[in-house]
Amino acid sequence: MASLPLFPLTAKVTALRGVGPVYAEAFEANGILTLKDLLWSLPYRYIDRGSLLKIGDLGFRPDAGDREIVTVLGTVQDVRQSTTRVQRMNLTEALITDGTGVLRLVWFNQPHVGKLFRAGERVLVFGPLASGRLGLEMRGPAFELMGRGGDEDSLWVRRYLPLYRKLGPVMGRARQRMVQEALARASEPGEWLPPELARGVPSTLASLRLLHQPPDDSDPAELDAHASPAHRRLASEELFAFALGVTLRRAGRMARRGQAVATTPELRERLRDYLPFRLTGAQRNAFREIVADLTSGRVMHRLLQGDVGSGKTLVAFLAMAMVAETGGQAALLVPTEVLARQHAATVQRLLKGAAGGMELLLGPMKAAEKRKALARIASGEASYIIGTHALFQEAVAFRQLQLVVVDEQHRFGVRQREALKQKGLDPHWLVMSATPIPRSLALALFGDLEQSVLDELPPGRQPITTRLLEPGGAERAWAIMERELNAGRQAFVVSPAIDPQDEAKVPLRDIQAMEALLRAQFPVHELRVVHGRLKADAMAERMEDFVSGRARILLATTVIEVGVDVPNASVMVVDHAERFGLSQLHQLRGRVGRGSVPSHFLMLSGADTERLRVLVATQDGFRIAQKDLELRGPGEFFGTRQAGLPQFQAADLVRDRQLLTLCREAADKAVQRGLSEAQLGWLKQEQARLKLAEIS
Ligand code: ADP
Ligand code: MG
Repeated sequence: MASLPLFPLTAKVTALRGVGPVYAEAFEANGILTLKDLLWSLPYRYIDRGSLLKIGDLGFRPDAGDREIVTVLGTVQDVRQSTTRVQRMNLTEALITDGTGVLRLVWFNQPHVGKLFRAGERVLVFGPLASGRLGLEMRGPAFELMGRGGDEDSLWVRRYLPLYRKLGPVMGRARQRMVQEALARASEPGEWLPPELARGVPSTLASLRLLHQPPDDSDPAELDAHASPAHRRLASEELFAFALGVTLRRAGRMARRGQAVATTPELRERLRDYLPFRLTGAQRNAFREIVADLTSGRVMHRLLQGDVGSGKTLVAFLAMAMVAETGGQAALLVPTEVLARQHAATVQRLLKGAAGGMELLLGPMKAAEKRKALARIASGEASYIIGTHALFQEAVAFRQLQLVVVDEQHRFGVRQREALKQKGLDPHWLVMSATPIPRSLALALFGDLEQSVLDELPPGRQPITTRLLEPGGAERAWAIMERELNAGRQAFVVSPAIDPQDEAKVPLRDIQAMEALLRAQFPVHELRVVHGRLKADAMAERMEDFVSGRARILLATTVIEVGVDVPNASVMVVDHAERFGLSQLHQLRGRVGRGSVPSHFLMLSGADTERLRVLVATQDGFRIAQKDLELRGPGEFFGTRQAGLPQFQAADLVRDRQLLTLCREAADKAVQRGLSEAQLGWLKQEQARLKLAEIS
């Protein structure tokens, strides 16, 4: 093989031997075009040959815990589907053999499994053993299809068998062969990491070899934790490329001229007049930082972070007022109409006599109303503009847009953020994050921006008692709620949105069932129900009933998660709390405790109690977010549709956050020194995947 020519990592996979049209199509469908794409698709897991058990040796081993996970490799003998007599469940059964015995596998209500299994194909299965009617079996095991193959085609060329993400027909030994071929034919790229990152880690190609074909003496714990020096090399390459992109984008922004807002003593006086309260120290600091940006002549790009209830809205309003009072326009973008209406009411209240300068723009407005709003925005008559996505989608022409404030940013994609730039506008940006996130992640998520943190709550906040109640203890929750309602307060009840296809083992109570329960439990108190499928008008009307106090109980899915401000609400009950993320629950909790009396946050849940206890233990949103991230990973944490998150293959934003900090520092230095050819080349390759800045 040594005589064959080497390819750069940027060469097409189709250059490899053995890649015909079928494989090429499978690769392309999975975004794998080059050798680099193929090689950076790292194994997500390794199976140690020594941990593999023979079916004939399986049995109840007295010293093994009864939930011990065992791994077996077998060939499928038979697959069948049927329906159980009791409960009418779909049952999939498969028999596999490895020559020493036959093992039965069963799945309930997962008919797709039956379609994946084919007689004669190999499969690795992982799961605990159970004793069934017909002997030992595995119920609902995880599995990995390995394709066909005979004795001469052992999967186990080494001690560790790498397992890969599915790539259509390229599986099992065939996948290993492709990778092997790519490793043999790829040439070592020039070193482009700066010395401080390259020190102590193997070269790129050596790292790829170590991770695709771990030597038998590799440390399995290190492999599993993605903590080997080889992992570190590849993660550094991704994070450094990413950090370089951010640094360059920042340099570009610093070079742009922003609209400088001129402050005067009169302006300061007017802003002070708008304030309903004394600012907290944290609010004052954050606003000072914003003023410095707005007056600097550069374009502001700032993230305002703060725990729920820390008073971000007031700071944002002051920034808007500063622009609006000096002849510019400021837009506030929010994710939902409920929230848009509420912010509009708040701004109106703060503006008092000057409220005529405000305009609300929503998607489903009546045509005449919308025309009027658009005209007022175009003429500059409206200087405070509040709206949802409609602000991007409609033919909105601004007269003098100088500032965009985005509330609950992570619901907006990069695309919307870029939409205004498309209109030739280069306003200042203030981004408010609902969920506090660690600095390193903020950087990854938002790219280039400065941060202000509100680490102090306004005075007079009432304590919130948090309790976790078993479903059997729900009476306790209803009793507390009854007491609060009878004292003239209001209550939120939150139900998870439940998909009727849901296959959870615990029976779930949906919002209809909860409504029936609440009506029976609290017949004298007015109740309103809101959920995501409600028409905008109906939603606004029901919310208004609750905000005004006409309705005393609001039963909702998580549409209330963000921003609703009803100080008279002193109790919230969350049903099936295990269905929510920790940060989401913390946001929900922030809806109470805003009035003049102590409040209650009651979670009903029979599952996942250890995770939920975090909320009982602390009220610190930053700590909760950190825990949530560790438990769920950044993808889940920010929601699967989070468009802005870069797609890393070797790096993990939570696991590698210290490395990211190092890469940032290294990137700053590298840009100051001037980038090398190798660095520029690598950046060009990476920019699409990592959503980096344009490099010119
Ligand atoms: P969040 O940061 O969660 O968006 P809000 O901006 O909704 O918080 O503020 C929460 C509550 O605190 C609101 O009712 C607001 O009026 C009140 N608030 C904000 N700043 C102050 C302050 N400096 N003093 C007293 N109350 C304040
Ligand atoms: Mg808010």
